[in-house]
Amino acid sequence: MRWPTEEELARARRELVAELREKGIRDPRVLSAMEKVPRHLFVLPEYLPWAYDDRPLPIGLGQTISQPYIVALSTEALELSGEEKVLEIGTGSGYQTAILAELAKEVFTVERLPELSWEARERLRKLGYRNVHFRIGDGTRGWPEEAPFCAILVTAAAPKVPQSLLAQLSEGGRLVIPVGGRFHQDLWLVRKEGGRLVYEHLCPVSFVPLIGEEGWR
Ligand code: SAM
Repeated sequence: MRWPTEEELARARRELVAELREKGIRDPRVLSAMEKVPRHLFVLPEYLPWAYDDRPLPIGLGQTISQPYIVALSTEALELSGEEKVLEIGTGSGYQTAILAELAKEVFTVERLPELSWEARERLRKLGYRNVHFRIGDGTRGWPEEAPFCAILVTAAAPKVPQSLLAQLSEGGRLVIPVGGRFHQDLWLVRKEGGRLVYEHLCPVSFVPLIGEEGWR
C-alpha cells in the first residue's frame, strides 16, 4: 500500500470535519482542532486507510480510539475556552488528549495500561504538545493532588459516575462520562452548579469498560 501524501491526509481531515459539521458539531474551536490533529498517527498502521472514517478503531490490548464524532461531541460539551485545567480518564492512543491539549491550558490524563500510556506520551511529545501530564493508574480515583478541574472527560464506560471525579470537579465545572451496562451506555454531561449536580443526556454510546475501584471490577 502506498503511504498517502500530506495533501491527501489534509483533504481526508477536511472531509471528516465537514461530516462532523453535518452531524451537528458547531463549536469552531473544536472543529479546527479536529482538522489539525493528525488522527492517522494515532491508529495502528494496518488501520491507516480508515483513519479518517467516522468510526472507532482498535489500538491493541483490546482497546479502541474513539469515534471522531463522539470525541467532537464530548469536547464541545466541555465548553473549553483555553484557560482550563482538564482531567481525562482513559488516555488510550492519546488522540482525544491531543484535541483537549489544543483547546485547554493544561491536560492531566490517566491510563491504566502502561504500554498505551507510554506510546501516547511519545506520540504527543513528537507532535510538540507540552501542556499534557501523564499518569499510569486507576483513573476512577481521579488525580486528587491536582484537583479541582474545570472539566473532566472519561473515555471508558462506568457502571455509575465515580464519586471521586464529582468531588474533583470545580464549581461551574463540566464532566462528560459514558454510564451504563458493559456494552451499551449513555453519554452524560454533568454540571456542578451552586453545589448541585445537573445532568444532561447527550446520546447513546458503546465504550470499552472503565475498570477500577469506582468502575467495573
Ligand atoms: N480517548 C482514547 C483515544 O482517543 O484513543 C480512547 C480511550 S479507550 C476508548 C478507553 C481507555 O480507558 C482504554 O485505553 C482503557 O485502558 C482505559 N481505562 C479503562 N479503565 C481505566 C481506568 N480505571 N483508569 C484509566 N484508564 C482506564
